[in-house]
Amino acid sequence: MIDFSIPAERAAERDRVRQFVIDKIVPFERDPRLTAQGLNDELRQELVELARAEKLLTVQASVELGGRGLTHVEQAVLYEAAGWSTLGPVAMNCAAPDEGNMFLLSKIADPEQTAKYLQPVIDGHQRSVFAMTEPGGAGSDPNQLTTEAVFDGENFTINGRKWLITGADGAKTWIIMARLAANPHLPEGPTLFITDGDTPGIVIERVMSTMDRNYVGGHAVVNFDNLVLPRESVLGETGQALRYAQLRLAPARLTHCMRWLGAAERAQSIAIDYAKTRTAFGKPIGEHQGVSFMLADNEIALHQCRLTIWHACWLMDQGEKARHESSIAKSFVSEELFKVTDRCVQVLGGIGISDETVVEMIFRDMRAFRLYDGPTEVHKYAIGRKILR
Ligand SMILES: Cc1cc2nc3c(=O)[nH]c(=O)nc-3n(C[C@H](O)[C@H](O)[C@H](O)COP(=O)(O)OP(=O)(O)OC[C@H]3O[C@@H](n4cnc5c(N)ncnc54)[C@H](O)[C@@H]3O)c2cc1C
Repeated sequence: MIDFSIPAERAAERDRVRQFVIDKIVPFERDPRLTAQGLNDELRQELVELARAEKLLTVQASVELGGRGLTHVEQAVLYEAAGWSTLGPVAMNCAAPDEGNMFLLSKIADPEQTAKYLQPVIDGHQRSVFAMTEPGGAGSDPNQLTTEAVFDGENFTINGRKWLITGADGAKTWIIMARLAANPHLPEGPTLFITDGDTPGIVIERVMSTMDRNYVGGHAVVNFDNLVLPRESVLGETGQALRYAQLRLAPARLTHCMRWLGAAERAQSIAIDYAKTRTAFGKPIGEHQGVSFMLADNEIALHQCRLTIWHACWLMDQGEKARHESSIAKSFVSEELFKVTDRCVQVLGGIGISDETVVEMIFRDMRAFRLYDGPTEVHKYAIGRKILR
């Protein structure tokens, strides 16, 4: 039986998170360190320390690694509250890509890799990268991976180019996907490697200017130029990268949904306030049906999105992979929340496209959400294939 009632203790924690975000994090939303190349590490560290002081840092990590070992449904409740500010998840260390990377590493990293690469990320002292997407290579179709690793029996030499790599600039923990060339020692195929961002051969060509703002370090173009890694840098088993990527993506795409749900609620609250106070044609605009219907459509969509997320989370909490349901959730929630935010811009009139309110920034970040962790069309493609099988 599905029971989505929130226990009193968890509801109290959700309220505490929401209040922390409102009191301590919202004031940073106009910080000049938040730019078209994301936010910088200095700002991130300030935010992280605020969450640490409130004991709200990395609450999702396992108990053994210093977190609280939340269920997926519990994460949904808290991340939604954190998402009230686009900077809330950064402060609480549950933003992408670190959140998904921490999840993946907690499943497949060996003890040395855990101590060196995962624990400092959990502790908020280090950031991480997941480098898969390539210009002309891996993207919607990761099978097109072109970055190549050549193994000589002792070391791997990696060459290739990636782009849209979030947080690359300044991150220490790097997870790199490369295709292991045929060799007599190890199974070939797409393989994950883990290394330090300072390793010679990792060259950040540039940080792209993008329409979103809220990822630390922005999104970079990266060149792997004769990057030499030892045998111990293989993450998990060689040839298994696409399976591991799926392991990471199913929960990671849901956590995006949770955080952006919180941001869309914030936009809706700003639109409601405006609709109550702004007048036109003799009454508050909210009393014109054209406006109240937009707000009502938003309310319906927010509720549907929450239930869709919670259902997929609940399935995962029952031990199911829920790949199909998380695909449904990612495509549905990203499209619906984008429409919600667009309607909020419309309700705000001309001011909606200005930075007088945070709605404009949420709208731009929400646009990107329809692309990463599987564009909508790719999820529909997978859903379509499943239902026709
Ligand atoms: C903000 C942001 C952050 C990102 N961060 C990272 C990161 O940290 N690490 C990383 O490795 N990558 C990252 N990415 C890349 C992201 O994973 C890719 O953008 C995504 O997988 C799509 O790949 P692509 O951009 O190459 O699009 P393409 O593969 O070029 O696709 C172009 C279009 O074709 C459509 N399409 C493809 N296949 C089908 C199909 N079967 N049916 C219908 N339409 C289809 C797509 O939906 C899309 O609209 C990020 C992207 C963004 C926008």
